[in-house]
Amino acid sequence: MSTSSQGSSNRNSNSRTSLKPSPNLKSKPTQRRNTTTTATSAAPKDHTTVPGRVRVAVRLRPRNAEESVADADFADCVELQPELKRLKLRKNNWDGETYEFDEVLTEFASQKRVYEVVARPVVESVLDGYNGTIMAYGQTGTGKTYTLGRLGEEDTAARGIMVRAMEDIFANVSLETDSVSVSYLQLYMETIQDLLDPANDNIAIAEDPKTGDVSLPGATLVEIRDQQSFIELLSLGEAHRFAANTKMNTESSRSHAILMVHVKRSVKGRDASHSSENGNHPHMVKSLKPLIVRKAKLVIVDLAGSERIDKSGSEGHMLEEAKSINLSLSALGKCINSLAENSAHVPIRDSKLTRLLRDSFGGTARTSLVITIGPSPRHRAETASTIMFGQRAMKVENMIKLKEEFDYKSLSRRLDIELDKLIMEHERQQKAFEDEIERLATEAHHRISEAERNYADSLEKERSKYQKDYMESIKKLEEKFVMNQRKNEDSRIKSSSEVIPGVSAEEMADLKKMLQKETLLRKAAEGETNNWKIQVAELKQSEASAKSEISKLHKMLEDEAHQKEKLEGEIAILQSQLLQLSLEADETRRHLDGGGFDKEVGGRDSLTSQIKHQQQVSGNGAKPSIAKLFEQVGLQKILSLLESEDADVRIHAVKVVANLAAEETNQGKIVEAGGLTSLLTLLKTTEDETIHRVAAGAIANLAMNESNQELIMAQGGISLLSMTAANADDPQTLRMVAGAIANLCGNDKLQTELRGEGGIKALLGMVRCRHPDVHAQVARGIANFAKCESRASSQGIKSGRSFLIEDGALSWIVQNANNEASSIRRHIELALCHLAQHEANARDMIKGGALWELVRISRECSRDDIKTLAHRTLASSPAFQAEMRRLRLSH
Ligand code: ADP
Ligand code: MG
Repeated sequence: MSTSSQGSSNRNSNSRTSLKPSPNLKSKPTQRRNTTTTATSAAPKDHTTVPGRVRVAVRLRPRNAEESVADADFADCVELQPELKRLKLRKNNWDGETYEFDEVLTEFASQKRVYEVVARPVVESVLDGYNGTIMAYGQTGTGKTYTLGRLGEEDTAARGIMVRAMEDIFANVSLETDSVSVSYLQLYMETIQDLLDPANDNIAIAEDPKTGDVSLPGATLVEIRDQQSFIELLSLGEAHRFAANTKMNTESSRSHAILMVHVKRSVKGRDASHSSENGNHPHMVKSLKPLIVRKAKLVIVDLAGSERIDKSGSEGHMLEEAKSINLSLSALGKCINSLAENSAHVPIRDSKLTRLLRDSFGGTARTSLVITIGPSPRHRAETASTIMFGQRAMKVENMIKLKEEFDYKSLSRRLDIELDKLIMEHERQQKAFEDEIERLATEAHHRISEAERNYADSLEKERSKYQKDYMESIKKLEEKFVMNQRKNEDSRIKSSSEVIPGVSAEEMADLKKMLQKETLLRKAAEGETNNWKIQVAELKQSEASAKSEISKLHKMLEDEAHQKEKLEGEIAILQSQLLQLSLEADETRRHLDGGGFDKEVGGRDSLTSQIKHQQQVSGNGAKPSIAKLFEQVGLQKILSLLESEDADVRIHAVKVVANLAAEETNQGKIVEAGGLTSLLTLLKTTEDETIHRVAAGAIANLAMNESNQELIMAQGGISLLSMTAANADDPQTLRMVAGAIANLCGNDKLQTELRGEGGIKALLGMVRCRHPDVHAQVARGIANFAKCESRASSQGIKSGRSFLIEDGALSWIVQNANNEASSIRRHIELALCHLAQHEANARDMIKGGALWELVRISRECSRDDIKTLAHRTLASSPAFQAEMRRLRLSH
């Protein structure tokens, strides 16, 4: 708190005087002007752009905890393209408008980055001697205070613009020669309060009529000498603001907080040498090398919340308050407009806020505006109005609405590049992998055969050596044996003549010795054999381990193959997404070219003309890339994606299939590959409305062809479509389903079955949706059905009342016979004519009021062919003739 007391002492000496020129400058307000002009002509670094042009950045706040839950199922209402400096405001999932800003800051933008793009240029120009303003505008809760006012005491990275600006200023001034002083104010209901001295709550604005300089002589002005005192001052101001608002029972979001930083710098004349002596004694050297004093003011305004508060007004002074707040904000908007348009009159006097900002506007001043928005689709309207404010501030009178086409193109290009990279990487990996496998396999092979060879060699060697030894010992033994025998014989001969027992004992001893030696030799041979046996076992073991290594390698090979398959799957998904994007881009382009789907006239024609259009578009160069992708991905792969676990992939896949199904040339292939069955299955297995809509659209297109119609019927298509119709709310889904059934209604062979499975009831059920496109499809279905029925009756295949009448369609038909939409009316007129051709229907038609409609058609239908048909039908029906006579009607 020592700072605040220092602040008050400074306040006493500075507050009343410092905004006026100091005595030695007092006589030369023009000198300041001149210095400013000099600086301007010296081409300051940051004024290359149009002077006075308001720079506008938009900053998106991340979802907060409440939004993460409440908006979990919804996309953000904006989509940012920071690299293009664009922001797209979504209308719905497909549609949106794109705006350009000087900077687009995403929810990930750091406070440092925000400071650098929004505030640094302004601060730099303030240091150069120009007034500057930084403002934050936006709905309450979108991050104005976060952007401007955070102190960042707990986390340096969180420091807001005010704190960072002051740091930059301190880094660039020299406290010996320069001064920095600060006022902090609140503007509430056109009253200025001093946040540094709460008792001071009605400060007047003084304007110098000659120079136009604005000052607040009554406001506390504290000279700041270090960053810490500034932080303390801001906290003090914030505390006072809180207390004041509690007292007045308001929220700070209703008031504007204004920080004014006065920077006074002494700079030397152009040729002055850099000497601190000069700097310290300006008076002494004034006559030789005058010091130029540059004074500039940085104003940082945390504006009141831009939301229209009249919505919530219930308290007593709310209305007054609303007016006052809107007064300042709207006056600000008008001034920015006038300045940007270079208009002669800038309505600065309209509010205190604009009067305060007067000398920050125009000429050489630099103004930066950051508009803050939130992501929630629930606040789309407020977000839109904030964006408009920002756009006006950028002087974009007719707002830049960019065609979405471009965005798709760039996205598609990016995806393309990514895809190519993936393909390349995959190819590389695959090659490296195959090489590695091959190398490992050869190596293993070599090792095994070498081991086998070694083993066989050494086995053979040992065996032959052993055998040789063995043979030799045997031979020796035999020789000895023979020798002994001979000796024995000799001695027997001798002993027969003369017996010498001592000799025989000697020889016995010799023989024993030899026997012992042989026994030893045999044992050694046995030991060696054992050794070899062990070696053989070892070799067998190493063979087994080589085998297990091979099987491990096999396993790796399988894993890699699996991985490859997965990668291929991912590539297919990416390709299908790309394909989808290209198709969507085509569609958007078509839309933008004015060929919008909804603008089609005839219900029957809309599907066919859609196809034609597609063909036209694909004829214009889009086709090669789609066809290429189609080829690359393969229909089978796309169809298999319809069953993907991932809902997004399913949606993409079904869109791709639907777009392909819109081209007649693809229809046969799709059906052949089982696509129709997959689409029908999707109606049953998924609950996703988008999938239902797109799948039904695809089925409707496939149902244009007679053999497909039979296939659809055979696969239970009617009950699937009826079920989809019963559960759908989206008019476009209903329109697609009705279109599909209407196509089936035109098949002579399917009449009874279609009706039997509830097709007509389903059709009629869809009129609960009031959308004219749905009604047009229903009417087309009824007309188709009536036509086939009438053909069947005249061929004698059908007798009795029309199924349409039996299923209760007549009253809807009569009600809509004169519908103002010609796409509905024409079909019903035809249906009535067909129904009237059979006497079996006449009684019901008369009772239901259809006769009146037929008479009207026969008199005033604008299409001559239908008029004549009605006339002829009436004339040929005895029942109608009798009734007309009774009613004295003629036609
Ligand atoms: P405002 O001043 O426009 O009414 P605040 O600055 O008070 O809005 O922000 C409202 C809430 O949103 C605060 O809790 C703030 O911390 C949080 N917030 C705002 N902007 C951001 C951001 N860019 N990142 C994280 N939180 C933010
Ligand atoms: Mg705030």
